[in-house]
Amino acid sequence: MSTDKTPADTTIGFVGLGHMGGPMAINLAKAGYVVHGFDVVPEAVEQARAEGVVPVGSVAEAATGADVVITSLPNGGLVAKVYEGDEGVLANAPKGALLIDTSTIDVDEARGFSAAAETAGLRHLDAPVSGGVVGATKGTLAFMVGGREDVVAAAAPYFDVLGAKAVHCGDSGAGQAVKLCNNMLLAIHQIGVGEAFALAEKLGVQDQVFYDVASAATGTCWALNVNCPVPGPVPASPANRDYAGGFAVGLMNKDLGLALAAVEKNGVHAELGKAAGQIYRSLNETEAAGKDFSVVYEEIASKSGVVRGGGAS
Ligand code: NAD
Repeated sequence: MSTDKTPADTTIGFVGLGHMGGPMAINLAKAGYVVHGFDVVPEAVEQARAEGVVPVGSVAEAATGADVVITSLPNGGLVAKVYEGDEGVLANAPKGALLIDTSTIDVDEARGFSAAAETAGLRHLDAPVSGGVVGATKGTLAFMVGGREDVVAAAAPYFDVLGAKAVHCGDSGAGQAVKLCNNMLLAIHQIGVGEAFALAEKLGVQDQVFYDVASAATGTCWALNVNCPVPGPVPASPANRDYAGGFAVGLMNKDLGLALAAVEKNGVHAELGKAAGQIYRSLNETEAAGKDFSVVYEEIASKSGVVRGGGAS
């Protein structure tokens, strides 16, 4: 239904206006949609209001009359809180409304929400994202989408505004499945890159030299080429600003928890995934919890007695 309407005729309820949801809601408002935004934190609502989002006072208000309800929440428990109950999205969105949950949550939780939405006469997609706050702000996110083909097609105009691409990964839950697999791999990569730099440094190799070779050789990966964990070789990487911004250790720890629960449940032999889970669980209990997850290099370097700036100790 919503795809037949112009943006100005389309109302989007947006719940969760945080680091990711705030800029996403603003981009939709800038694209001409009527965006009714709600967050439990008043400052988040105020920031979005300043950029064209219409503030509403509750989840129920955000859902009432909405063609589309988008959620960007920290975890599945909060998605349940927002979806369920008399004041929730499922009870208040009009029949046929399209629900797009961009939160990273458990695969089975996503499937459960989809089934509950269908029972309520609504359409649902799990659509977790990759691309971080920069991608959310620039509208260049990558969406990993699970759900029915026709529902994915109906959501295309919104993905076009918010992202550079949206990949239909399969039925309900498939978007979350791909997200968890990707982030488990990413965590392993980031630790591996940190260990490789530490070894190179102990062997007397300069950071820049190792980077120049490995980034163009078989060691190449995003964790090295873009999120390089030592300052210098990639000026825009978080390591150059004391690991501020980026993708926080706490969020990686959450995603690994979801991935490893799936590993256990499905009997997958994932020794490196489990080791990465342990490493990020420990790191999340330190003051590094809020820093970009490439900060894991600092722990590796410090335990290895690496002298910063390249070279052996
Ligand atoms: P965030 O904590 O900045 O934002 C979440 C927002 O939800 C907060 O503003 C919070 O107040 C709000 N909220 C919580 N409970 C609510 C409720 N009951 N009703 C209304 N609002 C409520 O988190 P974020 O970084 O924006 O991440 C959102 C989701 O996107 C998470 O699932 C995260 O894993 C995922 N994600 C984040 C990143 C990233 O780089 N930050 C990247 C990819 C995916």
